[in-house]
Amino acid sequence: MPTDRRSPEPREPVEPAAFAPADDDHPREECGVFGVWAAADAAALTALGLHALQHRGQEAAGIVSFDGERFHSHRALGLVGDTFSDARVIASLPGRAAIGHNRYATTGDTVLRNVQPLYADFEFGGFAVGHNGNLTNATQLRRALVRRGCLFQSTTDSEVFVHLIAISLYSTVVDRLIDALKQVQGAYSLVALTAEAMIGVRDPFGVRPLILGRLPSPAKEGGWVLASETCALDIVGASFVRDVEPGEIVVIDDNGVRSIKPWAKQASRFCIFEFIYFSRPDSVVEGTPVYEVRKRIGAELARESHVPADLVVPVPDSGVPAAIGYAAEAGLPFELGIIRNHYVGRTFIEPTDSIRHLGVKLKHSANRSLIAGKRVVLVDDSIVRGTTSRKIVEMVRAAGAAEVHMRISSPPTTHSCFYGIDTPERDKLLAARNDVAAMARIIGVDSLAFISIDGLYCAVAGVARDPARPQFCDACFTGDYPIPLVDLASPANDRQLSLLAEG
Ligand code: SF4
Repeated sequence: MPTDRRSPEPREPVEPAAFAPADDDHPREECGVFGVWAAADAAALTALGLHALQHRGQEAAGIVSFDGERFHSHRALGLVGDTFSDARVIASLPGRAAIGHNRYATTGDTVLRNVQPLYADFEFGGFAVGHNGNLTNATQLRRALVRRGCLFQSTTDSEVFVHLIAISLYSTVVDRLIDALKQVQGAYSLVALTAEAMIGVRDPFGVRPLILGRLPSPAKEGGWVLASETCALDIVGASFVRDVEPGEIVVIDDNGVRSIKPWAKQASRFCIFEFIYFSRPDSVVEGTPVYEVRKRIGAELARESHVPADLVVPVPDSGVPAAIGYAAEAGLPFELGIIRNHYVGRTFIEPTDSIRHLGVKLKHSANRSLIAGKRVVLVDDSIVRGTTSRKIVEMVRAAGAAEVHMRISSPPTTHSCFYGIDTPERDKLLAARNDVAAMARIIGVDSLAFISIDGLYCAVAGVARDPARPQFCDACFTGDYPIPLVDLASPANDRQLSLLAEG
């Protein structure tokens, strides 16, 4: 298990290797999963659930339904509303059971054959599966499966589940699934659908979220829901039942919910970045309201790195709750000094050079009347490449700010994520090659501070990080990867391994 706990030595500033044009400069969300069992209009409910989970993946969406006799599938590139707001599409997905998936590609290309849920006909019947997370031994498994004659239809890591189930010698679907799960390593929250049941699975470390909900009875006949986040329950009027536990399989059929725990119990390592950025602020994650956590992180940040200033300004939208917490703790006014244009979207998906150079100005503009002459504290959730931060600081200075201080509600992102979040390789992470002072010079601020890892843990869970047994996955801040990075350690990936090991 490669780890790197060394503190970076102070160095000369090293510019990031590549600047992505008009890049959001945040880690990209992973995927969202949703499923409904035993409810009328299951596909329509699933489309609503996926819509609420749109922040977890915007590249593609798919739904597979089962009508009691046949499976039906519709998958498409683009946003959920682009495809599933069409009544004819929903009508083509009949049945009282459906599962759906929002995709952001962390493995494989963005092409239709990679869009989930994946579906296969086995000797026991149809099987559909949607996966949120990333497998760390998928390449090795894929090579072995191909040598055995398996024909892969996609380039996504998730397809190994399908082939492992297909070749399993066990007889029942659940036993075949368990057999497959015991061969994979990595982060996974799955929703699967067969003719007999809907199945939810969380990996033994519980890295990615998965919750169980219940539709109201009798209007929706008391059906069951699986979802990545509670915000997807709200939109369909379902109530929260409980989190699917790390290492738990829930089998939902007409007899109710059966829980199977095929692994020995172990300490969970839920992704701490879900609290900082990925989850929607109105979701309750692992029993904790995300919005409240983000305000607590902001307050802790103010205690750790207070600076004399006139205003606290969030970098919208993800920096808003932390900025509210920071301003309250620091006793400073909270002001919307940067306005985000919510209507810049795929209109500029292939911008011309003249549009591309506008970069961040397409999305954000400084509120000059608030900022001019003021000492501004900018609050954001993370710095990945530093490209957007630098442009935002330039914009705030151009609006007349007297001083610009940046405060970040996560520790420095020094390592890539291999568990389902799209982060750049290490050589493109600003914090992997620069100390805080050098980063401050690169992005052009008067001061820069990140929340400490212990401050983050205290804000999230009320206790400091236990270095011997960390309570969360925090590998992108510490390099302490809880799940072995099997594929990275294979000879074919020497370059990635050396990037990982570099300090
Ligand atoms: S490496 Fe970071 S983003 Fe990835 S699962 Fe761990 S905490 Fe989350």
